[in-house]
Amino acid sequence: MADTLDTVITEGKALPLGPYPRIVTKDFEVPGIDRIEVYRQHGGYAALAKALRDIPPDTLAEEVKKSGLRGRGGAGFATGVKWGFLPKTAPKPRYLAVNCDESEPGTFKDRMIMEVSPHLLVEGTILAAYATHVHHAFIYVRGELAFAGRQVERAVREAYDAGLIGKDILGSGFDLDVTVARGAGAYICGEESALMESLEGKRGYPRLKPPFPAVVGLYGGPTVINNAETVSTLPAIVTLGADAYTAYGTEKSKGTRIFCLSGHVERPGNYELPLGTPMRVLIEDFGGGVRGGKRLKAIIPGGSSTPFLLPEHLDTPLDFESVAAAGSMLGSGGVIVLDEDTCIVAAVLRMSEFYRDESCGKCTPCREGTFWLVQLLERLEHGEGKASDLDLLNDICDNIAGKVFCPLGDAATSSIVSSIKLFRDEYLHHVRAHGCLVGPGARKH
Ligand code: SF4
Repeated sequence: MADTLDTVITEGKALPLGPYPRIVTKDFEVPGIDRIEVYRQHGGYAALAKALRDIPPDTLAEEVKKSGLRGRGGAGFATGVKWGFLPKTAPKPRYLAVNCDESEPGTFKDRMIMEVSPHLLVEGTILAAYATHVHHAFIYVRGELAFAGRQVERAVREAYDAGLIGKDILGSGFDLDVTVARGAGAYICGEESALMESLEGKRGYPRLKPPFPAVVGLYGGPTVINNAETVSTLPAIVTLGADAYTAYGTEKSKGTRIFCLSGHVERPGNYELPLGTPMRVLIEDFGGGVRGGKRLKAIIPGGSSTPFLLPEHLDTPLDFESVAAAGSMLGSGGVIVLDEDTCIVAAVLRMSEFYRDESCGKCTPCREGTFWLVQLLERLEHGEGKASDLDLLNDICDNIAGKVFCPLGDAATSSIVSSIKLFRDEYLHHVRAHGCLVGPGARKH
């Protein structure tokens, strides 16, 4: 972190910049921050006013590119680069879709943003639309998040009433309409092409790519799709400037990120930390360590779609490159902690049931494979499996990963393949002892 960044004066407000600064969630404890008056009293919409007044759209897009901001949804693709894929001219209107269909098990940061500070999301949405020359943006909210959806709908109404959305925003000549759409509760609609299908009123099936959404997206027009946390970071980038923003994080993983800490820790919750913060700091300093003083058994670092890590990986910096080097992925930022009493087979079965239930059924390896995986895991968990089931599980996973239509297939296999690799003996114990190694019903022989 740069030595000069003791404080950054922004719009007359000093942000404390300790070793763990919060720049996206800095005002989340302010009572009433979900209301437009309070949000504005705390500097809300100042970044938008600054951008509309002083920063032409293409310059803003360049600034975001320079900031190194990477998508916070899971894939971690550079946001400014993604925007650059939009064609300069197209016969159809271009759109922005903000992906608030947060459904990855272990991930609950976008929900917090929507519930606590929906105007931050709305301001970020307007900034993203402005930078990409979009005049109609959609905010797609996961169906089950009823309160979050209501908060976003109200924030959009308040922003319309305040002249922050609509025609000639703040006298800038920029027009934007924002539509809030609710999903119907399908994990697959977080996949960008399925999200577009859903927005168009169709069943949420992923589309064949190419063409990519930037070229042929929503209603056939060029479309940029950004995650809720990604757009909610834009006001901070405008306020601080790309140079100050890049002082946080690592060389390739810039800025801060909201990590969702869950599982067997004393203080689960959302923690905004600079990328590159060691996992140990998140789990032990912020999360209070493993619940009840138990020993750590495993960590899932990026939501249930990502491979397991072990206690020896506790000092891994939480950035895209370091987590990948350790054998997993930073994914959605959902860090799940499992203690020594966790049966890995039971945990993997639970996650696999989710993917079986959420498979959209469009392609055979995923539709049938996820079902078979659960059957095999069930019999192993209940002490009725065979040692050869492990090879069978790996074989089925091999026939899904990389051979299906969308990333859900790969996601369904990560925990299985990595757990067999890291916890093979525990699987074999289920075969030999006809039951779990740990937990209340443990069978030791
Ligand atoms: Fe649907 Fe699974 Fe195929 Fe994705 S991989 S399109 S979720 S069946």
